[in-house]
Amino acid sequence: MMQEYDAIVVGGGAAGLLAAGTAAQNGARVLVVERNPRMARKVMITGKGRCNVTNDCSEEEFLQQVCSNAKFLLGPIHRFPPAKTMSFFRALGVPLKVERGNRVFPDSDRAVNIVDALVLSVKRAGVDFLHQRVERLLLEDGEVRGVHCQDGTDLFAPQVLVATGGKSYPLTGSTGDGYELAAQAGHSIIPPRASLIPIETQQTWCRECMGLSLKNVTLTLWEEKKKKPLYEELGEMLFTHFGISGPLVLTASTFLRQDLSRYRMEIDLKPALDEKQLEQRVLRDFDANRNKDFFNALSGLLPRKLIPVMVRLSEIPPEEKVHQITREQRERLCRMIKHLSLTPKALRPVEEAIVTAGGVCVKEVAPQTMESKLCRGLFFAGEVLDLDARTGGFNLQIAFSTGFVAGESMGKKENQYVCGSN
Ligand SMILES: Cc1cc2nc3c(=O)[nH]c(=O)nc-3n(C[C@H](O)[C@H](O)[C@H](O)COP(=O)(O)OP(=O)(O)OC[C@H]3O[C@@H](n4cnc5c(N)ncnc54)[C@H](O)[C@@H]3O)c2cc1C
Repeated sequence: MMQEYDAIVVGGGAAGLLAAGTAAQNGARVLVVERNPRMARKVMITGKGRCNVTNDCSEEEFLQQVCSNAKFLLGPIHRFPPAKTMSFFRALGVPLKVERGNRVFPDSDRAVNIVDALVLSVKRAGVDFLHQRVERLLLEDGEVRGVHCQDGTDLFAPQVLVATGGKSYPLTGSTGDGYELAAQAGHSIIPPRASLIPIETQQTWCRECMGLSLKNVTLTLWEEKKKKPLYEELGEMLFTHFGISGPLVLTASTFLRQDLSRYRMEIDLKPALDEKQLEQRVLRDFDANRNKDFFNALSGLLPRKLIPVMVRLSEIPPEEKVHQITREQRERLCRMIKHLSLTPKALRPVEEAIVTAGGVCVKEVAPQTMESKLCRGLFFAGEVLDLDARTGGFNLQIAFSTGFVAGESMGKKENQYVCGSN
């Protein structure tokens, strides 16, 4: 049973690659086992191919954006904060830029530059790669001994990092294998669920507006019997064939729990105008179109695709002449523009989620090392853990921070048990 490696990293994604490079720089002999022919396929599609690599914010602000188990991340984020991610990529020759909401992107707007830099840094550190799917862990006496691959090969090492991601976007390679590996070592798995996910709505009219992207609108999410909204933000959203998506909707979805009938959403289509200003604006538009049909008088006010829907919902006959519209009808239209109501029916399946919430229970993992508290030599990092955050570069940062801590731990001399021996 030759042990050629001090550590095997299962999964060559964001967390696995950063961990592998860090461990190797600390002197460990590391093998990354990645099932895909290419590394970090998911990172390639992040930020619509532009890769929102982190968020240029303080540790405190960062933790406020974490949806599950923020406390667990206190140490990892402190040791590898967003500023370190930025200096890491800049040192690798990737210029970065900061956009709205402190979102950080490569200057080139190309995710491939982030992936190439990450892979290059790992190769330079002397890490080996193997393209295989890991099927199970090799365990003995409560310790990890290596991994068993789909082609029947056994690979031995005294340390194994599970960095297999969640179960969203399975075509990228993250199909939830890590949960089975963890369960094999006795870990509890918090049931995986979709986070940052588009929302199916009860209102079927959304389909008519499919493809319409609304910029600078406010989305407010209400829960029954609660006086304050759960979420309210100005930004961008999108209509789809099943309901709604886009940045505002993805973030709103992180607040939804079971029984979606408790929730209601409202879109303010004109957040820059208060009720009075909107009424004056509508009056001005109506004045300029006095003799037109109502249907044809809204083009200055609303996006084209939304007009038939708003006309129908307002219950004002489309062919009514604008000068015949009553004050009550006009007020109803204004109310709808400020409070367009939508009811969530379902979340899209976890496979369509940007991030998988749930996963390996963090109570059974030491945040100082990312090592399992149940099985010596077994480590976890990234989305496979029960950690998730809002959009804005926070999820990749979680992968980098936890990957860094795991890499440092695996690289420590005392963790490199007896290498190259039986
Ligand atoms: C469409 C989309 C856009 C996103 N945009 C952003 C963004 O802009 N900013 C941001 O911060 N986050 C974004 N995310 C989230 C972010 O990509 C993930 O949170 C992050 O990639 C998680 O890193 P990870 O290393 O834990 O897992 P992954 O990146 O998923 O990597 C896991 C790797 O493990 C491999 N693997 C799985 N099982 C096995 C096995 N059995 N054997 C061998 N290898 C295996 C997989 O092939 C994969 O390469 C986005 C996600 C999606 C889906």
